[in-house]
Amino acid sequence: MSEPHLAARLQGLGTTVFAEMSALAARTGAVNLGQGFPDTDGPGEVIEAAVRALRTGHNQYAPGIGIQSLREAIAAHQERFYGLTYDPSSEILVTTGATEAIAAALLALVEPGDEVIALEPYYDSYVAGISMAGGVRVPVTLRTPDFRLDVDALAAAITTRTKLMLINSPHNPTGTVLDLDELSAIAALAVEHDLLVITDEVYEHLTFDGLAHHPLAAMDRMRDRTVTISSGGKTFSFTGWKVGWACASPDLVRAVNTAKQFMTFTSGAPLQPAIAQALAMPDSYFHSLGADLQAKRDRLCKGLSEVGFDVFVPQGTYFVTTDIRPLGYTDGMEFCLSLPERAGVVAIPHQVFYDNTEVGKPLVRWAFCKQEAVIDEALDRLARGLVTTR
Ligand code: PMP
Ligand code: GLN
Repeated sequence: MSEPHLAARLQGLGTTVFAEMSALAARTGAVNLGQGFPDTDGPGEVIEAAVRALRTGHNQYAPGIGIQSLREAIAAHQERFYGLTYDPSSEILVTTGATEAIAAALLALVEPGDEVIALEPYYDSYVAGISMAGGVRVPVTLRTPDFRLDVDALAAAITTRTKLMLINSPHNPTGTVLDLDELSAIAALAVEHDLLVITDEVYEHLTFDGLAHHPLAAMDRMRDRTVTISSGGKTFSFTGWKVGWACASPDLVRAVNTAKQFMTFTSGAPLQPAIAQALAMPDSYFHSLGADLQAKRDRLCKGLSEVGFDVFVPQGTYFVTTDIRPLGYTDGMEFCLSLPERAGVVAIPHQVFYDNTEVGKPLVRWAFCKQEAVIDEALDRLARGLVTTR
């Protein structure tokens, strides 16, 4: 259905599936394993830092590129974990969440008609960002059972109209963490075809089984053609704070900021010193994140498998993907829309993240960034609801 007042480039974007499904959970009292947000707060000392900032006058416009202490903390974080050096005065831009950084980067770098290659299933804001920029998205599909990058498919997707690749690792919704071979292949293609790359690394610290996240910008000859995006939302369990950033060469940062400055001008001032403090926390904090979440991953994966789903165990992120066909269902959207009534649980259908919707149709995503009792309650409900009504 076309929306009467909406510009053509935004037709079809509708309401985000996360808002829709969280509203469904609230309306029905279902356990919400849909939208990815933790149900406990991040570190108390970081909250105190934000309160202190509110009480000590950090309440007027911050500099457009972000406060200096946060830019320095982001630079120190990239150096500490990845050995990447960025100049805080010209190579780092603070944004209103990773979402704004993604949109601003696409608006800044994509000409109408340019092709943008992205890994499918896509995080939903990529589709919107590419559309708003007038770009043409070109999917490279990650497929079950292991959702690895098909390097030949990536090479085949590149044309003379390709402007950039939009990469996401750890990948939402599949949980794939790209390995060094895959990242080298992406880098080699980017260099060969002189492409820019935007890389969304918001789940950089949420990896499991001792697996390391490798930033694309650290690959050979990638630093100066890559816009690296992340945010404090996942790393510090403050998804509502919306403090994000982009790291890139000065010319790329200037371009992204040209768009950003007319979207929000500057991002929320009092949360910036708090995230600066958070980024300076000891290594032990960052290392424990994955370990804590891994136990939750295992709990949900085991339970979903016992309920009867095919479970694709993720290497990172907040999410696990299942195939619903072993339980006799074929359409993930229908399944998710009726799940609150049938079982009192909300999950996210993969198919909304695809151009090739048939590939995603039997797949459903579940969030495990929840308290163990909440995961157990959801599993109980699924075991009862799906068995009795199948
Ligand atoms: N990228 C991915 C892959 C995400 O899952 C999310 C969602 N949280 C974002 C970007 C947006 O991050 P932020 O909340 O910082 O805007
Ligand atoms: N990133 C979160 C998810 O994938 C949701 C963020 C949002 O609601 N836009 O569930």
